[in-house]
Amino acid sequence: MKTSFLRKKLGILGGGQLGKMLINITRKWSIETYILDPNPDCPCSKCCDLYFKGDFNNYQDVYNFGKKVDIITIEIEHVNVEALYRLEKEGIEVFPSPSNIELIQNKGIQKDFFKKNKIPTSDYKRFGNKKSLSKYIFKTKSKYPFIWKSETMGYDGKGVKLVQSFSDLDEINESSCVMEEFVDIKHELAVLVARNKSGKSKSFPVLEMEFNQKSNQVEYVILPSRIPEKIKLKSLEIADLVSKSLNHVGLIAIELFCTRDGDVVVNEIAPRVHNSGHLTIESCVTCQFEQHIRAICDLPLGSVTQILPGVMVNLVGEINHNGKASYHNIYKAFDIEGVFPHIYGKKITKPYRKMGHITITDEKLDEAISKARILKNKIKIISTK
Ligand code: ADP
Repeated sequence: MKTSFLRKKLGILGGGQLGKMLINITRKWSIETYILDPNPDCPCSKCCDLYFKGDFNNYQDVYNFGKKVDIITIEIEHVNVEALYRLEKEGIEVFPSPSNIELIQNKGIQKDFFKKNKIPTSDYKRFGNKKSLSKYIFKTKSKYPFIWKSETMGYDGKGVKLVQSFSDLDEINESSCVMEEFVDIKHELAVLVARNKSGKSKSFPVLEMEFNQKSNQVEYVILPSRIPEKIKLKSLEIADLVSKSLNHVGLIAIELFCTRDGDVVVNEIAPRVHNSGHLTIESCVTCQFEQHIRAICDLPLGSVTQILPGVMVNLVGEINHNGKASYHNIYKAFDIEGVFPHIYGKKITKPYRKMGHITITDEKLDEAISKARILKNKIKIISTK
């Protein structure tokens, strides 16, 4: 019997809400779980077996942490990969692999990977800095709009800008960047694929995401996605190609755009559990967090069947509120059948900081959507003195 995974120690780089939801699973199976995070008040510090204060971007901190565990995984991709390469060489299991993490850390390299593996994606061009981008626009009389993306350290739309005129370039930073064709998006979709060490893989049903226009953050996730069957099949096929090309172990999220013409292109990949998959906790037989732990422990993958339609709403900090968090009207979520509140336990709220989420399940998707919109308007994360 394969029970050795029960004796293995798991280390997670990052102690945020994704780590906390992974720990809900490792607790269930009594897998000892250690966390590395700079903030002793992070969501995971109180619920893991051992918390280590340290910087997941620092070589020595990651290396020292990695030597204490048997398997290491991530809940954030901005981590020190050099230390992970060394740990892997020294026999620690690292999932996702350091090479896949490195690939994903740079949006330009990610685009080159799509191109090389014939994965459909929007046209792009890479630049070493802002000056060479400006020169190129000037020389070729490039058309507007286009999308500017910083190659590194962008997340939740922070390194992304819609450029509509030359003067918009004043607002972008000096970093190496990608100039991306503007896609006329009809739907933003995500497919989560898990693959275990033995190479068995399973994809969750296609998820539909709705974004907040101001923050560029996902605001609502909807299952089942309200798209034609043809688009669902295309999305799953593309996700399978990405998964095979990456040869990953663990769960990955593939973010896709469905265009008004019915094309499906990959926007980007996250090699970890993802905000789009939170509703799998209540809406699917196996949730994304359990699937990731199963995959990295080389266990059989669970069923990805949808139990009920679901909608997830992110609860983020209100603008103009910085300080001790208070969840105004959260009790309303507890008062409705089929509504599941999740509170991450971050003490301090900031504008657009992800503080929690709620999932609404209902036999009728339309009902779930309208409950979600009502609750989003009622529940506010504000600061108190
Ligand atoms: P991040 O990694 O910061 O989440 P993304 O690359 O996912 O950034 O971009 C954030 C959002 O910007 C997307 O969800 C989408 O709404 C929009 N966007 C990104 N790329 C394009 C594009 N090529 N065309 C149109 N909109 C885009």
